[in-house]
Formats: sequence, structure tokens, C-alpha cells
Amino acid sequence: MSLLQQLLALHRVDVQVRSLRSRLEQADRFLAGQQRQLDELLAQRTDVENQRRQLQAQAATMEVESKSIDARVQRLRNDLNQSGNTKQYNAILCEMKSIEAQKDAIDEQALGILERVEQTSKRLEGFEPLLAERTRLRDAAKAECAQRRQDTSERLGELERERAAAAAQVPADAMSLFDEVADLHDGEAMSEVEVIDARHREYACSACNTEIPLALYARLAGDTGKVVQCVSCKRILHMAASVVAETARKR
Ligand SMILES: [Zn+2]
Repeated sequence: MSLLQQLLALHRVDVQVRSLRSRLEQADRFLAGQQRQLDELLAQRTDVENQRRQLQAQAATMEVESKSIDARVQRLRNDLNQSGNTKQYNAILCEMKSIEAQKDAIDEQALGILERVEQTSKRLEGFEPLLAERTRLRDAAKAECAQRRQDTSERLGELERERAAAAAQVPADAMSLFDEVADLHDGEAMSEVEVIDARHREYACSACNTEIPLALYARLAGDTGKVVQCVSCKRILHMAASVVAETARKR
């Protein structure tokens, strides 16, 4: 087998390996995207949960404060009953009124916070159907990934062994060039020479339509055992099978 025939054999199996791998990668990327969206939603819910916890803590602190004021008022009421004179009585009454006003303010504030706790709880409930839907989508993507792996693993293993066998035939420098160009063009490493006008010796790269300089064409036609690349897209050029047969017949 000539070097070009070896490369074409490699290319045939390489394209199949790449296509199967890309199907798997596509499913993996989709799953990663679904997982990311689910994680974002979970993080949002955690934020709201933290907000609610803080509000609940504030409300609890205020309740304690309010109760301690109640106790003080109770003590003052006792003092009031035992007060010896009007001046003392009025002073105690005045203090009671002042701290009762404080308590009213605290209770009002606490009420506002409890309302916010309730609103936050409602927001948290709103997350449930969204999370259920996101989880369902993530699980479906996960199942699709597993299914694709299962469907392709045997065939992919076979193809990878075939590819390794084909690659073993190709010299190292041509191999690394092939991989480089294949990566550049999503696996399309090879391009057939297109005959534009045989009489005027006009040829082009069928992949990118760039004209092939005559010297380059001559090198390829001469079958020197060297790889010839398109000057523009860098794909490895090869002749159509019919042209190769025709050339061989004329020799
Ligand atoms: Zn080209």
C-alpha cells in the first residue's frame, strides 16, 4: 500500500471514530448544561433559604425583647400598686408608658419581619415545581448519555482497534500531520483533487476549491511517497481512484 492509500484507509475509519465520539461528547455537553441549570436553581433556592433563616432569627430576637419588656412592665405595675405618693406614682406611670411605646414599636417591626418570612416561604414553594422540572430534564439527559454509551461502546471499541491498526501502517511524521489536519477540519483531513480542465492542466482542492499549482500537482501525480497538502486549507491531497487507475493504465 502506498502512503496515500494508507492515509485514505486511516481516514475512512478515523471519520467513523470521530463521528461516534462526537455523538457521545454532544450528549455529555448537553448533560453538563442541564446539570449547570439545575445547580443554579438549587443555589438560588439556598440563597432564599438563608434569607428566611436570617429573618426568622431577627423575629426570634425581637420576641425575646418584647417578652423582657412585658416582664419590666409587670414589675412596674407592681411598683405602681405599692407606690407611696403621687410623685412616685406619676414617675412610674411615665416610665411604664415610655417602655410600652417601645414595645409597640418592636412588635410592629416584628410583624413586618414575620410578613417577610411568609413571603419568603411562598417564594421557596415556587422553587419546587421548577426544581422538579429541571431535575426531570437532567435525569433525561443523563439517561440519554448512558444509552448512547451503551449503543456505541461496542462499535466504538471495534473502530478504535481498526483505527489503531490503520495508524500503525502510517509513518510517524505523516501520522502527526494527519492528526493535525484532521483536528483542524473536524476529521476531514483528506481532499480529493478535482480536475477542472485536464487539457489546460487546471486542478483544484475539492474541499476548499483553491487551485492546485501545477508543480504541486506534478509532485502528487508523480507518486513520490510524500504527502502533498492543499496550499490553502492544508488538507492532504489525493487523486480520485478513477484518475489513479487511468494513470496506472497509461504507464
Ligand atoms: Zn483545500
